[in-house]
Amino acid sequence: MSMKGFPFEDLPNTAAFVCCHVLNGEKPILRVSHDEDGYWQFLCGGEHKTEDAKIISLKAAYEIDTSTGGLSDMEYGKTAERKNKESDRIIF
Ligand SMILES: [Zn+2]
Repeated sequence: MSMKGFPFEDLPNTAAFVCCHVLNGEKPILRVSHDEDGYWQFLCGGEHKTEDAKIISLKAAYEIDTSTGGLSDMEYGKTAERKNKESDRIIF
């Protein structure tokens, strides 16, 4: 069952990682990882300590920046990075 307007194949309530900077709206999402174990990470691209990682729903992460929906078919083990909100993403 796919939700209208939600581009990810994973369910909207799937756990996703964000850093505190992204969650607080302090910094934009500049780095998105789709881990080998299937988890998504939405990070600011800066340095982090373990306690900076927060868990929210994939839907909540998507709603922080709906342009991340363009990465919904990114394979496991890939990371997308961009320099700022206006620049193109590089996937590696
Ligand atoms: Zn951060």
